[in-house]
Amino acid sequence: MHRFFVSQLDPVDDAQALICSDELLHQFTKVLRFGRGEKVILLNNSGYEFVVELQDFSAKRILGKVLSKKFCETELAVRLVVAQAILKNMERLEWMLQKGTELGVSAFIPLITDRTERKALGKIERLGRILKEAAEQSGRGKVPELLEERKFEKIFLSDAEQEHALDYGEEGERLIVVPHPGVEQKFSDFCKGKLVKKDGGKFSGELVICVGPEGGFTDREIEIAKSRGAHIVSLGSRILRAETVAMAMATIVAEAMGEI
Ligand code: SAM
Repeated sequence: MHRFFVSQLDPVDDAQALICSDELLHQFTKVLRFGRGEKVILLNNSGYEFVVELQDFSAKRILGKVLSKKFCETELAVRLVVAQAILKNMERLEWMLQKGTELGVSAFIPLITDRTERKALGKIERLGRILKEAAEQSGRGKVPELLEERKFEKIFLSDAEQEHALDYGEEGERLIVVPHPGVEQKFSDFCKGKLVKKDGGKFSGELVICVGPEGGFTDREIEIAKSRGAHIVSLGSRILRAETVAMAMATIVAEAMGEI
């Protein structure tokens, strides 16, 4: 069955769904040529998925009956936030967003660091589409958020100190890690120690991973991170390209939590 994230223009409740957005109307009728009786899965970013039978078609809307509703079990227990220094090469950044979505990242923050050359992402609509399509394809219950660009230093402020606290995620337990080549602590050891408790319970707060740009973090930035209690970790002796780092780390997180 095809899966679609709907917008606010396409309300879904426990009984029925109303498809009114031009985008979905076009996709359903012109591209996929759905007709009466077609079954689809609709997701409204609530974490639930709705199996819907399309029943009544008109030019301006499609009415569907909700056959079932279930919670999507595909989200990681931890809220994984990737704060990635803005890369020079947009294609690599897009690849990172797509693969990170497949691996369960909840939110991405474009970071401005001492060595980033670009200071803004741009192409927000295109990036939003990449996230949505990757979330649909990989069976996610929620589309990851793409938060506003912010300076590296701001990542270490508490919610109360942030200008826009609410767009950072819910207040709760937060761990921040900064991968940096050549340090002693291995990220896999960090995960084993911090993400799974002695009684087997899993860390369910927010894990923020800050990834440096092509030229890496400066000593000044590493000192700031340390002074604010971040964990500086290694991913082994080989230097990974910036866009590979979040993929490797998301995989290690999922493995440590017993999810893969
Ligand atoms: N020459 C740069 C340096 O030494 O930092 C390399 C930067 S690397 C291409 C981009 C980012 O990926 C780094 O800032 C770091 O966050 C992360 N990274 C890459 N390989 C790593 C490794 N083996 N251990 C920890 N972090 C790594």
